[in-house]
Amino acid sequence: MRMTRYFLPVLRETPAEAQIASHRLMLRAGMIQQSSAGIYSWLPLGLRILRKIENIVHEEQIAAGHIPMLMPTLQPASLWQESGRYDDYGREMLRITDRQGRKLLYGPTNEEQITDIFRAHVNSYRDLPLTLYHIQWKFRDEIRPRFGIMRGREFLMKDGYNFDIDKAGAIHSYNRHMVSYLRTYERLGLQAVPMRADTGPIGGNHSHEFLVLADTGESEVFFDNRILGNRFGDRKLDFDNREECQGIFDEWTSPYARTDETHDPKEFEDQVPAEHRQTSRAIEVGQIFYFGTKYSQPMQAMVVDADGQRTAVHMGSHGIGVSRLAGAIIEASHDDKGIIWPRSAAPFDVGIVNLAQGNTATGEVCDDLCTALEGLGMEPLYDDTRERAGSKFATMDLIGLPWRITVGPRGLAVGEVELTERRSGESIKCTPEAAVNRLRSIYTGQGG
Ligand code: ATP
Ligand code: MG
Repeated sequence: MRMTRYFLPVLRETPAEAQIASHRLMLRAGMIQQSSAGIYSWLPLGLRILRKIENIVHEEQIAAGHIPMLMPTLQPASLWQESGRYDDYGREMLRITDRQGRKLLYGPTNEEQITDIFRAHVNSYRDLPLTLYHIQWKFRDEIRPRFGIMRGREFLMKDGYNFDIDKAGAIHSYNRHMVSYLRTYERLGLQAVPMRADTGPIGGNHSHEFLVLADTGESEVFFDNRILGNRFGDRKLDFDNREECQGIFDEWTSPYARTDETHDPKEFEDQVPAEHRQTSRAIEVGQIFYFGTKYSQPMQAMVVDADGQRTAVHMGSHGIGVSRLAGAIIEASHDDKGIIWPRSAAPFDVGIVNLAQGNTATGEVCDDLCTALEGLGMEPLYDDTRERAGSKFATMDLIGLPWRITVGPRGLAVGEVELTERRSGESIKCTPEAAVNRLRSIYTGQGG
């Protein structure tokens, strides 16, 4: 992509309204623009990041055997009246009346909608287990939208719903979601710690929130810091194997890790040696929940079991804050110059900076680099503007692409360009071909 043909409205000044790094950097990098309080447009660069995150979420859900679909943003109030939540949900729900006087709402979540779909089509235990999910915009009329897309009113969420014949089956679905979430966050370069969350009147140990430690987070968390050494890594796993999934659940949930809602100072002291007790602020990037027959019972989502009895299915719901993740990654990975994207979420793979726009030699090398990198399946962003070198570097550092190749007449005179890694700031001088080869080996694990 050539920058002169792109739309990248970077801001040089720090917007006064932004209180935290991610909000500031997303505005400055031309990723988002506020439309009204808590509602944002995703500009081209932001959209690329959102799509990268979404794809990883999809891949990990599909790997776990969960099935993608898409439900609407507007839902009929009647469904929520069936579950009793139309009155219970409160003022966060945006209620709308259409021209026929029918009551609608902009969905803050989809338990009712999915239960309605399920009950229309599934009648037998033979069709279970089933987990359906979608990635769709939600609306919650948050009393205090803030920190940009971190606490928006309109936000993108992956929400998945499992249907199982009994509690044991639903607990396996729960564990499977835990594993798929751990893998998702790890691929995004994040350490998200599962912490026991409030289950309300249902009780039990079956809601966990996933939290990314950050000083600017809105949650307060208490945990055994030895959990920070846990990595899922590239271990192979059979998602249908109950013991394997349970094993991973146990491994990740046995160390003490709680949010302020479930924290118990006495248990904390008893279970965790003083030198490992840690308290921090954190960002909630997901939550999983087993809630039994809370919706299936009132909404009559029943199946015939193996004994011929009609029984309400056991359900759970599982959410990832897709748009919030973009902010969480930035909170976890930036410096005073800008964002440092992990490769998996980067909007482009490599930035190419032409130090002498208009110079035939540098222009040709930049074009060749683009062609070579694109041929390898990478996406370069070529700064072919007539900006000063300093300004081009500042933009590249701000938008945080993992690599930059700098092409200038002085280097080319001795056949060299410069390859710089954003994270370490380290540079090497080499031929354009060597730079491409180096990136090839990093991105594909092949070649020199
Ligand atoms: P919070 O406690 O932050 O208000 P929640 O517990 O109400 O969130 P869930 O219903 O668990 O949210 O939604 C699943 C995920 O969606 C959350 O873990 C979070 O990552 C994301 N999310 C929730 N509310 C917002 C919001 N207002 N803006 C952006 N993302 C959100
Ligand atoms: Mg939550």
